[in-house]
Amino acid sequence: MGNPNEPWCPVCREYTEHHLKERESAYYTCNQCGSDTWKPTSPGIYGSVVILVLAFLNFMAFVIGPDAGESQFDIWFVQICVIGANILLLRVVWRNAVHWRKFHKWRKRHYQELIDASRKQK
Ligand SMILES: [Zn+2]
Repeated sequence: MGNPNEPWCPVCREYTEHHLKERESAYYTCNQCGSDTWKPTSPGIYGSVVILVLAFLNFMAFVIGPDAGESQFDIWFVQICVIGANILLLRVVWRNAVHWRKFHKWRKRHYQELIDASRKQK
C-alpha cells in the first residue's frame, strides 16, 4: 500500500489496473475511468531535467541568439518558440507536481484511516 512505484489514479483515488496507451507514452491510462495518470517516475528528477533543458533553450535564444548575427526576424521566431516550449514544459511539470501532491495527500489520509481502524480493533 502507498507504493509510489505503482500507478495510482487521481480520479479513482486508488491503485487501479492501468495500461499504456503507447509504449513511449508518459502516462498510464486507467482501466476503470479512462483518465491518464503519470508513470511512476521520480518527479524531482523529471522537474530538474526540464528546468535544465529550459535554461539551455532560454540561454541560446536570449543570450547567444541576439549576438549570433541572425536577422531580427529569425531571433524573434526562435524566442517565440522558446517561450512556447517554456509554457508547454512548465505546464507538464506543474501537472506532474499536482498529481504527486494529490497522491501524497491521499496516502497520508489512507495511512491515518488504517491506523484509526487498527486502534478501534484493540
Ligand atoms: Zn481511474
